[in-house]
Amino acid sequence: MTEFMYQNCTIMPITNARNEITQICLIIYDVTEVAANRQQLQQANSKLHIISKTDGLTGLLNRKHWEEGLEHEFKRHQRYKHTCSLLMFDIDHFKRINDTYGHPAGDEVIRQTATAIKKCVRDIDICGRYGGEEFTIVLVDTNQEGAFVLAERLRKIIEANTVYYDEHVINYTISLGVSEINSDISSPTEWIDASDRGLYRAKRAGRNQTQIYTHE
Ligand code: GH3
Ligand code: MG
Ligand code: MG
Repeated sequence: MTEFMYQNCTIMPITNARNEITQICLIIYDVTEVAANRQQLQQANSKLHIISKTDGLTGLLNRKHWEEGLEHEFKRHQRYKHTCSLLMFDIDHFKRINDTYGHPAGDEVIRQTATAIKKCVRDIDICGRYGGEEFTIVLVDTNQEGAFVLAERLRKIIEANTVYYDEHVINYTISLGVSEINSDISSPTEWIDASDRGLYRAKRAGRNQTQIYTHE
């Protein structure tokens, strides 16, 4: 590692009795420690900034920051009319997983669900942990057909995944709701509501499936 020395420098002219500058006084201060402390503080602040945005268990955006992303995309749609879809999903019978295998095993299921999301989406998509075992993804520039394809890919990856935790072997499924933004949706909350209705339908229709909700 390169060691730097940070310096502050003061230059002062020194005059004689006739007020002529005859000498220069140069004072150099070693401020390495102060500068290093400041750098450490900046690094700590940027780490804190990332931590404040992310969910500790999954590394996805936490709900508050995900909602900011959603609002940003909603406004972008109002302005540029780019299409965009919102995917919401929930782990099926998650209570049973916790009850059968224990809470830490449930946490591992949540973690692996987030890993599956990261495998499926693009960098520009906005992925968040919305609640306990509920996840949300804003699929930028994606219509509902495209969102459905992605949702089904994710559903199949999770259906095929086995979570090994201690001596437990856990298989599980998810239910998903999709809605594409359109001019009838007048707020981010309505958009969430539309996807949530899709998710509700998927649960009602027997779980482990994706339902598109069209705002009427
Ligand atoms: P459904 O198929 O209808 O979604 O059934 P469900 O059992 O998944 O129902 P519900 O959504 O009510 O259950 C969510 C459970 O998730 C309840 C709560 O104890 C658990 N939970 C919430 N957050 C966490 C977490 O961070 N870790 C673990 N292990 N469990 C959590
Ligand atoms: Mg739930
Ligand atoms: Mg659930």
